[in-house]
Amino acid sequence: MIVMKFGGTSVQDADALRRLTSIVEGRRGELPVVVVSALAGVTNTLVGLVPASERAERGALETAVAALVDRHERVAEELGLPDDVVGEIRAEADRLVAELKPHTGDGLSPAGTDRLTGVGELWSSRLAAGALAAAGMLGTWLDVREVMATDDRFGRAVPRQDTIRELAQERFGPLLAAGRIPVTQGFIGRTADGRTTTLGRGGSDFTASLLGAALDARRVEIWTDVDGVMTADPRIVPEARTLKVATYDEVAELATFGAKVLHPATQTPLAERDIPIVVLNARQPEQPGTTITTGKELERPGDSPVRSIAWKRGVIVINVRAPRMFGMWGFLRQLFEVFERHEVSVDVLASGEVSVSVTIDDKERLPRVLEDLSGLGVVHVDENRAIVSVIGIGLRMTRGVAARVFKTVQPANVEMISQGSSEINITFVVREEDAPDIVRRLHAEFIEGG
Ligand code: ADP
Ligand code: ASP
Ligand code: MG
Repeated sequence: MIVMKFGGTSVQDADALRRLTSIVEGRRGELPVVVVSALAGVTNTLVGLVPASERAERGALETAVAALVDRHERVAEELGLPDDVVGEIRAEADRLVAELKPHTGDGLSPAGTDRLTGVGELWSSRLAAGALAAAGMLGTWLDVREVMATDDRFGRAVPRQDTIRELAQERFGPLLAAGRIPVTQGFIGRTADGRTTTLGRGGSDFTASLLGAALDARRVEIWTDVDGVMTADPRIVPEARTLKVATYDEVAELATFGAKVLHPATQTPLAERDIPIVVLNARQPEQPGTTITTGKELERPGDSPVRSIAWKRGVIVINVRAPRMFGMWGFLRQLFEVFERHEVSVDVLASGEVSVSVTIDDKERLPRVLEDLSGLGVVHVDENRAIVSVIGIGLRMTRGVAARVFKTVQPANVEMISQGSSEINITFVVREEDAPDIVRRLHAEFIEGG
């Protein structure tokens, strides 16, 4: 079997769903499981409704939900789908509004927030299943929450992979054996006590890979709006090209450092089982896309050592200066205990004799982290920073790349430098407003120039 995940733009309207149908049709013989995101823009709209729901503005919530249902209904009509598809979408909206009711008195709980922001996938999957069925395939809607067991970290729930494997085989196995095409949701999961969770923004890619690993898929396809994983973010580098191949490690670094094309956790369940990920363009399905594997064959000297450049905005640099740290053991442990306690992940670390700098992107938890760090030394915070990361498996074998990187970057000010222990990236921090131009210059130097 294979898993085929379609992102928001690949299900956004009737035309997109027609393309989805014909792409799935072409893969029928490979026993696909289809995973979909919410229609483009729907999750953002739902996230925007959270504050109103917290203030218990029921009218605003109901009006906005009704408008979203209308959008789905128009798509269903355009595709000529049977009435029961729209009926299910409406019923789901009614259940949502009813379930959120008990919370509205004292604001929306984290669980209520996930229930609300995750509803887009429950709707879009009805349209996709309906579209496949209408095209004569046995598209069968399945609620992924029945298999996607997670903990209760709402907003960024952690999947329980052993349970998922067991449940996925139990639920998907018979459908596939019966020649059906299961259509299910990305992004959402469920706690052991039955509450809806979400895996974090962009999490549908992660759902696809969790299901791919659980079902021993032959490959996982990520259908999106670009030709594959590219040498840079095409929105800021028009010259960016598509990579034919990439390694699990490269895409892990790329996604961690801002390349939105894949959720940062996507490759983890698949890398250990050696299941390839193929990133493809739903508007150009005949293009080969990018195939992501262990890529042993890519570690060839002679290729350009830099294969892609990523950047991430909204980064916060925290510097802790502690003269007492000189010659002391245990300081870093105390420092990292603070981040662990608040469950804030650190992306880049640079340390000197008496000071340590780290970057985080979690603005919400920043005040609590700072409060605890103040006990360790003098804390200084710089916001509006960006991380730029130069990534390539060939960096392991090539000398002098760092010198070339920093020569290209000057005269911009570089604030923190780190070369990951995986040795496949050189990463540094700059002011946010400098980053796009730096990415373009690095791309011209290492990729356009060869
Ligand atoms: P989907 O809705 O299909 O999940 P996303 O918007 O999450 O799509 O991700 C695809 C987008 O990622 C592309 O449209 C592109 O703008 C952006 N992107 C950023 N960096 C890269 C990169 N290195 N390669 C490809 N796309 C990238
Ligand atoms: N719809 C969710 C989001 O926009 C999940 C996804 O698209 O991957 O974050
Ligand atoms: Mg995405």
